[in-house]
Amino acid sequence: MEGYDLLVVGSANADLVIGVQRRPAAGETVLGSDLVTHPGGKGGNQAVAAARLGARTALLARIGDDAHGRLLLDTQRAAGVDTVGVLVGGAPTGVALITVDPSGDNSIVVSPGANARLTPGDIHAASALLAAATVVSLQLEIPLETVAATVRAVGPGTRVVLNPSPPALLPSDVLAACDPLVANEHEARYLLADHPASEDADPAAWATALLARGSRSVVITLGAAGALVADRRGHVHIPSEPVDAVDTTGAGDAFTGALAWRLGVGDDLESAVRFAVRVGAVAVTRPGAQQSFPTAAEVTAPGE
Ligand code: ADP
Repeated sequence: MEGYDLLVVGSANADLVIGVQRRPAAGETVLGSDLVTHPGGKGGNQAVAAARLGARTALLARIGDDAHGRLLLDTQRAAGVDTVGVLVGGAPTGVALITVDPSGDNSIVVSPGANARLTPGDIHAASALLAAATVVSLQLEIPLETVAATVRAVGPGTRVVLNPSPPALLPSDVLAACDPLVANEHEARYLLADHPASEDADPAAWATALLARGSRSVVITLGAAGALVADRRGHVHIPSEPVDAVDTTGAGDAFTGALAWRLGVGDDLESAVRFAVRVGAVAVTRPGAQQSFPTAAEVTAPGE
């Protein structure tokens, strides 16, 4: 099997979006705009983000044997992702039913579908794919036991990047494998819910506490303020260039996909975060999630 800079193990969803003037109350029907269908899911987003930048990327995920699944396969392949690890069947493709009102507020119902059927057995059956990857990137839109099985199945030479989203408490051996754990403010505070640092306003305090809990390194994403990177030697804040943000959907996934790729090609963590901050800054200047992710040529060096 060929080698991969990055294997993303995670979710793939179809995002079904309808604009409404207002949300229906119980028992009520309202008319909305034409339906727009976008490829999504954190795993699918990260894989597309990395592949579009030029990473040798594979996705290990489960989709349904249905039209949404075929759409997701097509968009992954079009971005350059190797879909040899995408399993088909067992349940319908995961979907997010999204209504957007005129003020831009979303209401979302997620049906995990096939994502919930990605099992530890599927991970064990994909051992050749795991062995071929320099970095494995995980999120929490698949069963936690499958995330844990992945972490336990990777070899010592494979680096694990994990974004705890949606937030859940991690088994200690999973946290101890994260290099880095990539969390936004909400996720960091959730993981530290029983720790005094969760009350602290300083992201460095969250990072320090997460390192003490066992994570090998920590990246806290800070929206327009960039990101904080921390390991046992200390921490450094990487600011973002100011940009006109129009849509932050998927920014965290673009950031993490880019970061994981740069680690996979040998960057040190701080350099990888500097690059990822620039990728996130481009992604927020464009509408949508996957459609907003830049190519490497669109990611300018600081001051350009
Ligand atoms: P999430 O999308 O997971 O909540 P953040 O909002 O922290 O995560 O965004 C992830 C990354 O995207 C940030 O670290 C930053 O690099 C970039 N980003 C997000 N919002 C902005 C913004 N308004 N301006 C510039 N960069 C941004």
